Amino acid sequence: MLRIALPNKGRLSEDVRGLFSDAGLEVRIVGDRALSASLGGEFEAIFVRAQDIPEFVADGAADAGVTGWDLVCESGRQLEQLLDLEFGRCRLVVAAREESGIASVEQIDGSPRVATPFPSLSRSYFDRIGRKVEVVPVSGAAEIAPHLGIADIVVDLTSTGSTFRVNGLREVATILESTARLVTARAQSRHADEKTHALTELVMALASVIRARDKRYLMANVPKARLEQVRDVLPGLKGPTVVDILDGGSYVAVHAVVAASSVYRTIAALKALGCEGILVTRIERLMP
Ligand code: AMP
Repeated sequence: MLRIALPNKGRLSEDVRGLFSDAGLEVRIVGDRALSASLGGEFEAIFVRAQDIPEFVADGAADAGVTGWDLVCESGRQLEQLLDLEFGRCRLVVAAREESGIASVEQIDGSPRVATPFPSLSRSYFDRIGRKVEVVPVSGAAEIAPHLGIADIVVDLTSTGSTFRVNGLREVATILESTARLVTARAQSRHADEKTHALTELVMALASVIRARDKRYLMANVPKARLEQVRDVLPGLKGPTVVDILDGGSYVAVHAVVAASSVYRTIAALKALGCEGILVTRIERLMP
């Protein structure tokens, strides 16, 4: 059995479940409060707080875990990153009160008090840039601290910046960029061979889903005379697949993998080249 620690609630939990289920590892849970569940096959999930996952993995209580890179770095535990899951994207930033006029860390006077749920990362950041600070650890809502007079600046996570803006704070520096990651204890040799094998399979399964998410499969009937121009519009993975159509006359069918973000443009370009019967579908998994 390969035990994987997953966030039990919070921002990452739904996306993690979605990804695992798309990869064929459906969480079979009995009620909302179950602390562990089978993921099918040799995989078992345990549900714990995102903050605790680095410890669980480092201590060997779980063979692997999914949590925010910010939390892995804050924990100070040496974990190996197996895969970037590309969601839970956020930045750990330094922010000051808007009316302070401060626009960069250099402009912060003296030895400021820093309210943060990330005391370790904050200390090492200010050490690195040679600034003396007094860290005030808080477990949440750090944004309010400067307004209450318990801190001069804040170090906290942001994704859109809107919470800072609403609270009258301005970002002045980025300490770390983070996304959700699949991590394991550094000493791979600690895993028996079968576990290493299962972990490799897990990484491949998740990676194939992530890779497919921003791609689409496109099919179109293309005038043979325009094939060369269509090739420029549809590079595909290794160039488009060209298939004969029964009684297709002057048309052939072309299949290609295209970027989801530019599919509208691709369709317009194909129409302009006289293509017909254009069909776009999602891809479940993609292994190059
Ligand atoms: P939570 O479950 O809300 O405690 O957040 C767990 C993790 O979600 C954080 O440690 C980050 O890795 C990630 N996250 C993504 N976006 C944000 C955001 N805007 N604010 C806070 N955490 C975020």
